[in-house]
Amino acid sequence: MPLTPELENIINILNEGKTICLLAPSFPVDFAYPQIVIDLKGIGFTKVVELTYAAKMINMHYHELIKKDPTKQWICTNCPTVVKYITNKYPQHKDKLIDIASPMVIMSRFVKKAYEQSEGVPQGGKYWPDRKTVFVWPCLAKKMEAKESGDVDEAITFKELQQIFDHYKENNIPYKEFSFDVTESGDADFDKFYNDYTKVFPLTGAVADTLHYRDVLSPDQVLVVDEIKHLDAALDYMEKNPNIKFLDPLSCPGGCIGWPWIISLAPTEERVKKIKAYRDHCKKNKMGSKEGKAEYMDGVDFDNKII
Ligand code: SF4
Repeated sequence: MPLTPELENIINILNEGKTICLLAPSFPVDFAYPQIVIDLKGIGFTKVVELTYAAKMINMHYHELIKKDPTKQWICTNCPTVVKYITNKYPQHKDKLIDIASPMVIMSRFVKKAYEQSEGVPQGGKYWPDRKTVFVWPCLAKKMEAKESGDVDEAITFKELQQIFDHYKENNIPYKEFSFDVTESGDADFDKFYNDYTKVFPLTGAVADTLHYRDVLSPDQVLVVDEIKHLDAALDYMEKNPNIKFLDPLSCPGGCIGWPWIISLAPTEERVKKIKAYRDHCKKNKMGSKEGKAEYMDGVDFDNKII
């Protein structure tokens, strides 16, 4: 099947040899680790990073914000569909939307800065304009967010990534030469910055689960919702119950593993199992040894430009 102009453009960007893949944490539903690292590098990504470090940093910022004002009601803004839905339909709730960008945006801002530092390019908090980031995620809403944020160069879905892999296979295009680190068990490793506990971020309620909020909120002050059809009721409940201080919403069933453009046809429970199995595999194989420290993020802008 011929590639779309958008995917042709991705291949051109990859051929420039300065492209970083930001791989969504829902990837285990559709792609096997560690083969995915090899395949992404083979088609030309120079670095392949997960979003777990950005997720951890977002959690820290959320925690700080809630701690500063525990009387206010807050809404997590990691899902762009939820953000647009609320800003368009419920402007009265707009001030509850947390003004912190999503893991995709933060990680993109960070890697441009991080690789600028590690490769010795002059500092000054500037981003590296000739480094491009491509976000690979199951949903189309992230394409809009990537464009509006201005910080992520391209965003493609898992289905589109598979089309690129198929294109390489069908046309016998050889993989490029590449190198990768290996984990303690000998698997191909991602490039840096692990924080294993946030590998569950695409699942319903995972932000609340990993936020370590117990010193500022009690469990009955936290509300979790998935599927856009349930969001109206959740917002209504929040409005009528000032005791609710944090709403963790995702618009797809089961979270980001439930977008219809995901390749897998497996039921939600199977998808959840795959995400958790990958997290457990990484924990066991000490992939967390390259943990991202908070200070690495110094100078990275956390503002959410899509609100
Ligand atoms: S919940 Fe669905 S729409 Fe929202 S970010 Fe995740 S996959 Fe995209």
